[in-house]
Amino acid sequence: MSRLDDYYRSRSLWLDGVPGSLEPRPALPGDTDVDVAIVGGGYTGLWTAYYLAAADPSLRIAVLEREIAGFGASGRNGAWCSWAFAATYEQMARHAGREAAVAMQHEMFDTVDEVGRVAAAEGIDCGFTKGGCLMAATIPAHAASLKKEAEWYSSWGFGEHFRWLEKDAADEHIRVAGGLGALYTTECAAVDPARLARGLADAVERRGAVVYERTPVQSFEPGAAGAPGVVRTARGTVRAPVIVLATEGYTVGAPGHRRDLLPMYSLMVATEPLPDDVWAEIGWSSRETFSDGRHLLIYASRTPDGRIALGGRGAPYHFGSAIDDRFEHEPEVFDALGRLIGEVFPPARDARITHRWGGPIGIPRDWYTGVTFDRAAGFGWAGGYVGDGVATTNLAGRTLRDLILQRETDILRLPWVQHRSRRWEPEPFRWAAVNLATRMMAAADDEERRTGAPSHKHELLMRLIGR
Ligand SMILES: Cc1cc2nc3c(=O)[nH]c(=O)nc-3n(C[C@H](O)[C@H](O)[C@H](O)COP(=O)(O)OP(=O)(O)OC[C@H]3O[C@@H](n4cnc5c(N)ncnc54)[C@H](O)[C@@H]3O)c2cc1C
Repeated sequence: MSRLDDYYRSRSLWLDGVPGSLEPRPALPGDTDVDVAIVGGGYTGLWTAYYLAAADPSLRIAVLEREIAGFGASGRNGAWCSWAFAATYEQMARHAGREAAVAMQHEMFDTVDEVGRVAAAEGIDCGFTKGGCLMAATIPAHAASLKKEAEWYSSWGFGEHFRWLEKDAADEHIRVAGGLGALYTTECAAVDPARLARGLADAVERRGAVVYERTPVQSFEPGAAGAPGVVRTARGTVRAPVIVLATEGYTVGAPGHRRDLLPMYSLMVATEPLPDDVWAEIGWSSRETFSDGRHLLIYASRTPDGRIALGGRGAPYHFGSAIDDRFEHEPEVFDALGRLIGEVFPPARDARITHRWGGPIGIPRDWYTGVTFDRAAGFGWAGGYVGDGVATTNLAGRTLRDLILQRETDILRLPWVQHRSRRWEPEPFRWAAVNLATRMMAAADDEERRTGAPSHKHELLMRLIGR
């Protein structure tokens, strides 16, 4: 394997396991004209290219990716292809009414299945398994808050999708140390993220679009007064009447978009494949995705080859929304995540940690994901998924297709369409507020572990950030 192949494989367990070569596809060969130029070859860019090419095979579509397709969060994530959409129902209802919030959730349920359908239809071998999601309570405070969450889902009409399971029923899914019960939903699948991204890039190319890798975009200008937009790369200039920006956590590097999204690093670790006797003790036979009731989120999955992959927040936010390979490695956070595997799943306590990695997620100022299209300028954008982009990006791709092709479809009435968050505050306010919020969540978790009772710090924090 070449140096580049090694470099890309080192970015996550999932990229490491992609069969075949990760040698980059050819870069942009020089100046070119296309109908749609897409900046970024993660799920957002690829799903948009996929659905556009499927809808109109005559379109000339170019995906311009700085590294390789799936290099970013799409090749590194926690494997949850889930019902979750970053804005709360209350936020969406305030913005567009209760019915719109409910419609959005139903569309997200369908979107999980749509990812599975396309993966099957395109022969994308990403291990899509819809085993649901278990959010376990291990202290009374978590049981209280997860039961409350079940009631909240019920009050929005989703009671049949989200159920509180008492301890014995929860243990039938996954046995955790000190388990007291769990909130369970069927509306989640586990995927191999990098195989999904790489397989999708192949499907995009089979449909006639071109994915240019190792092609960093330096600047772009959407069109004006009937003139096409321009995307500049070191390899040549692309002229296109439609430009889509799909760079999520890396958007801070796009001129004019520095404060649109705040990049937060989410970090993960994975164990070696665990022996059958360990799995017999833990259960986890349906590949449910897993979380628990703590405020500083953790998320986990059982991989197809029998590892536990577990991630969490807690890495610091870096001044000026800086992005750097070094921030993907925080030894203290990795150690804490490794310890957590043993604490939550004691039979796995001696397992070796074989992979440690991370990547940036994109957080909008109001924690409300958006998909927008400016027809006059021919400029499309989708992002701000926080940590919920695996399924939502698919809906973004279909929505951008309909906006760009001027179709009149029901999904264009969903409350995130044309939603624009305000920009983040300049530094040093961003840095101070975000790191304080992370510390407050960790402190709320400590307090709940010590007292067993719900902490009010989290509520206060949610009020402070306006959710
Ligand atoms: C550790 C981690 C765990 C996560 N877990 C989950 C999960 O379990 N479930 C879930 O739903 N979501 C999860 N997410 C979030 C999810 O992965 C993302 O929301 C989703 O992948 C976003 O896709 P994207 O295409 O918008 O962005 P990305 O996948 O980040 O793609 C953006 C691409 O743009 C490229 N790029 C950037 N700048 C340029 C440029 N100038 N020129 C050309 N190309 C450029 C990058 O190289 C990158 O490939 C997680 C994210 C991380 C990091």
